[in-house]
Amino acid sequence: MNYIDQAYDPEDFRRQGHQLVDYLADHLLRARSGEVDRPVMPLRTPAEQLAFWKNVGEQTDWLAVIDRIARESTMLHHPGYIGHQVTPPAPLAALTGLAGELLNNGMAVYEMGAAASALEQILIQKTAAYMGFGERAGGFLTSGGTVANLTAMLTARQAQIKDAWTQGTEPKWAIMVSAEAHYCISRAVKIMGWGEEGLIPLAVDEHYRVRVDLLEQQYRAAQAKGRTVIALVGSAGTTSTGSYDNLHALADFCGQHGLWFHVDGAHGAAVAFSEKYRDLISGIERADSMVLDFHKMLMVPALATAVIYKEGAHSYATFTQQAEYLLRQTDAEEWYNLGRRTLECTKFMISAKIYSLWNAYGVALFDEYVSRQYDLARAFADLIQQYEAFETAVYPESNIVCFRHYVQGEDEESANARNLALRHAILQEGDFYLVQTRLQGKVYLRTTLMNPFTTLEDLARLLKAVLRLAATTTVPAR
Ligand SMILES: *Cc1c(COP(=O)(O)O)cnc(C)c1O
Repeated sequence: MNYIDQAYDPEDFRRQGHQLVDYLADHLLRARSGEVDRPVMPLRTPAEQLAFWKNVGEQTDWLAVIDRIARESTMLHHPGYIGHQVTPPAPLAALTGLAGELLNNGMAVYEMGAAASALEQILIQKTAAYMGFGERAGGFLTSGGTVANLTAMLTARQAQIKDAWTQGTEPKWAIMVSAEAHYCISRAVKIMGWGEEGLIPLAVDEHYRVRVDLLEQQYRAAQAKGRTVIALVGSAGTTSTGSYDNLHALADFCGQHGLWFHVDGAHGAAVAFSEKYRDLISGIERADSMVLDFHKMLMVPALATAVIYKEGAHSYATFTQQAEYLLRQTDAEEWYNLGRRTLECTKFMISAKIYSLWNAYGVALFDEYVSRQYDLARAFADLIQQYEAFETAVYPESNIVCFRHYVQGEDEESANARNLALRHAILQEGDFYLVQTRLQGKVYLRTTLMNPFTTLEDLARLLKAVLRLAATTTVPAR
């Protein structure tokens, strides 16, 4: 048999597919139970990892390769995975992803993604309704929150600055956003060529929410520097602490000044599906645009992000000089040729993955997951507050909890060094994967409770481990 026949052999695929699913089911079983023979996050340094793969030699057993990759990857389904904001995917969505990988419709034009384009349209309409947008809302799916926010910023530029697409723009424009916002907003501004001063970082209060009382002052200061603000970005929530801005107040301000109001809900707009927590995004219905990552709080494998506009017609104007599109109050035309509106040309069949979960379980699944994780964060914060030796950065609004080990009367530098060392020691022990963040000069251990198998008992165990390590960990000399 020649190589091509071998590479595409249906019977090999069938056999390997069954093997793979069996392997992954066992992986899931073990990871979920936390009973594993390796750390949550692999401990090799980047140099060691590189050397490992260079020296691994010829590998003939395909499944052994998968096993090696899995062993050297972070286990998202392990209850000790409380690190970054990426979800442990629901298996059904992952399986649908596999189908999408093989069908591989490219989505740029209807002919290369007929079913997935229609599903995308349906999912956007349904999600828009949960955001409180009306009939005219519209949008698309794209590859991650970073691309989604960039796209929305480009749309705002198109809507606010005449001839931006054809003439380009001078660095005299600006966007206002929380100082605690995700860095991708700053990146979008720089990509648009507006430089450092194109971003107005908004002061935050002790809850890490934008200080509404200073908006006017900061807006004027930007004007005095020769900058014209075209848009304001609200956070729902912020990256470090998961804090939700007061969206109504921001919408009012945008209304007064004719600004485009965008909400970065990459992580936290998922509360739209939670009966209990949906009030956190009250006011999002007043936004001109918003983004939501399904690969964060909605159990879909990365990348899967929705960009939604209150006036769907705006989405057609982002990458075109024909602003007349804006005048048509319907997006009935060409909703199905998605490449017109997305930064990507070819893109993954994202909608299939999302649809698989939505169709099988309804939004009840999303509600259950989001509410559970947000409840857990509050219970964890309550637990932390019972200890003298710990303090939280802020009482959590979402499922992100930042805390630090703290000794009465010590200087910040020692506290910071010890918390960095503590995180390192926790990772070395292998039972937990968490990250760190710096807030107002203080280092915090940052946990994002993404995993539906993490319990309060697991988190109590984490606190005990931190206390034990704090008693024995020597802080590296400065
Ligand atoms: C994660 C996140 C992003 C970036 O999204 P990616 O999907 O990682 O590109 C942007 N904004 C917020 C608030 C986020 O939490």
